[in-house]
Amino acid sequence: MTMQVTQRRNIGISAHIDAGKTTLAERILFLTDRIRTIHEVRGGDGVGATMDTTDIERDRGISVQSAAVTVPWGSHAITVIDTPGHVDFTVEVERALRVLDGAVLLLCAVGGVQAQTRTVDAQMRRYRVPRIAFVNKCDRPGADPAAVVEQMRTVLGLDAGLVQLPWGIGPQLRGVIDLVAMQALRFGGAGGRAVEIGPIPVALQAQARAAREALLERLASHDDAILEALIEERPIDAAMLSAALGRQARARTFVPVLVGSAMHDLGVQPLLDAVCAWLPAPSAVDAEGPDGTVEVRPVVDAPAVALAFKHQRVGQTDWTWLRIYQGCLVARDRVTQVRTGRTHRLGRLARLDAGRVVPVESAGPGEVVAVRSIDCASGDTLTSDGLLVDLAPLTVPEPVVEARLMVRGADKQVSKTLARFAREDPTLRVFTDPETGEVRLRGMGELHLEVYLTRLNEECRIEATLSAPTVSLRQTIQRSAAFDYTRRKQTGGPGEYARIVGRIEPCAAPFEFEWAVTGGAIPAEYRASVEAGFADTLANGPNDGPPTIGVRVVIEDGRTHPNDSSERAFYLGARDALRGVLMEAGPQILEPVMTVVVEAGTESQGAAIRSLMQRRGQVSGTEVDGMYVRVTAEVPLAEMFGYAGALRSVTAGAGSFTMAFARYAPQ
Ligand code: GDP
Repeated sequence: MTMQVTQRRNIGISAHIDAGKTTLAERILFLTDRIRTIHEVRGGDGVGATMDTTDIERDRGISVQSAAVTVPWGSHAITVIDTPGHVDFTVEVERALRVLDGAVLLLCAVGGVQAQTRTVDAQMRRYRVPRIAFVNKCDRPGADPAAVVEQMRTVLGLDAGLVQLPWGIGPQLRGVIDLVAMQALRFGGAGGRAVEIGPIPVALQAQARAAREALLERLASHDDAILEALIEERPIDAAMLSAALGRQARARTFVPVLVGSAMHDLGVQPLLDAVCAWLPAPSAVDAEGPDGTVEVRPVVDAPAVALAFKHQRVGQTDWTWLRIYQGCLVARDRVTQVRTGRTHRLGRLARLDAGRVVPVESAGPGEVVAVRSIDCASGDTLTSDGLLVDLAPLTVPEPVVEARLMVRGADKQVSKTLARFAREDPTLRVFTDPETGEVRLRGMGELHLEVYLTRLNEECRIEATLSAPTVSLRQTIQRSAAFDYTRRKQTGGPGEYARIVGRIEPCAAPFEFEWAVTGGAIPAEYRASVEAGFADTLANGPNDGPPTIGVRVVIEDGRTHPNDSSERAFYLGARDALRGVLMEAGPQILEPVMTVVVEAGTESQGAAIRSLMQRRGQVSGTEVDGMYVRVTAEVPLAEMFGYAGALRSVTAGAGSFTMAFARYAPQ
């Protein structure tokens, strides 16, 4: 597909779980002809939706991996980057949001704004993603799109307005009324492919006119062109209104809201039209760098600048997903990994269409492509022609739970597979105890670890299990302590000798290392081994304790032996020096504390607050919002296991909550 950058759209669909994201994605694929059949998401046919690429996702019915699918739509190409909604996987959402130019906020016409809708809304704000909204499930009894829009205004603080009305509602839903062009749309044929456009039924005309007036008045508070036309009482035609909606959506001052039912193939084409008309092209979006906006030129003839945002295995092949901001990437070209300065040769390039690999020779600005796995981290910037431009690294939250992997006869393949998972997903950490061989996984939640356990078992054909997950603790030190340690070993063969003198002291960063050795008391060649010895031992947890953070190591002096000193001796010397001095530095155990936001009916306010206080929670805010109350608290994660059930029972099923890592604090 040769295409102008202005005709591309990279979008995400963000939603509370169960709002119908998978169903909508499936319908989009069907309408754009990429697949021939539609499978119900949790239907009994065992096939599952095409966008969910692993069996686990089918089993659980949630989209764990973000895969990108490119579909043609008229003269445009829309790339839908799947953004999983489950709270355990918010880092995946964040990575996907980073490379999006726009998003569809999907809401349920009955459920409206729910706890996770707010989480994804906050994320989209953080990445300044312009959006439009789709109120799905208008076929359900009790559907009320106008009430959902009101919630978007009051709960999310978004200025939003309906650009369509449902034609009929609940089980009587028949189509949509388009308030921009003032026409009625029905959807017939297989998968709603045949769009029938006609005049608005007489019975609905007055309502439609009033709704259009209300929309214009809302827009006028942002858009001068609309305001002037209203004041001068000039007619506002479809083109003018559509242009204003696009301007304000892209400026993030207004969210146009569409309605429909993905399951009944109703309203999907107008949504795709709206994506092309109102969400920005990649060329209109700036890239974010570590110190603000990085200027990138979305043109073909410039050095390439691309961001690696995901590793993914499809079939037997590992792929790295890239978003290109500037220039072109060509298969087999050389690129620089800016963070490390290393160069890599690109392999094949491809688009992955719902699990199918479509090879491409080159890809240009604004495109999202996969390349044969490159050894880089998600969040790395890759450039051509030696250009050094760094796009901001993604913020990676600390993993907060851990579990022991129980596997008989762990082999190379198991450790290689785990290492690959950890590379794909920076919130998954794998730690192997060098002495006992025990493997521990650290991640964002129980489900997060289970997903990787299932993948490990499938890919390695083993039957490993996980111990019950526990909170992943940390340790820090409270005071400075000096060491003077000599490692000396004489056992027949080559001896080991390393003397290291220095101190450890508390600091704000997770780890700092200062080399204050003068006069070559320890030759510079051993510096890296000493640093690695401290860093690894701290990260792995010295003295069987948890990983230790907030430690600054200062090396002041030392000594070598003409024959017996080696990198290994200094590495192990550093490890043992740390083990020896740690107790003197006043180690202190830290536990993860989460920010928990509970949302419940106002009648449950007392019960919700009590449920948090019983869990050592510190309530920091209570907000009443119409019928709802929102309670914000900091609660140790250790107290939060099983909270979903407890909250349901004290709020008679009407409470929900979100949780995000806040900080490590003394136990
Ligand atoms: P996701 O968790 O957001 O990906 O949601 P799914 O697409 O898995 O949908 C959740 C459930 O809602 C499934 O049982 C769907 O069949 C159902 N669903 C999706 N769209 C609609 C809709 O338009 N109307 C109704 N009534 N149900 C829907």
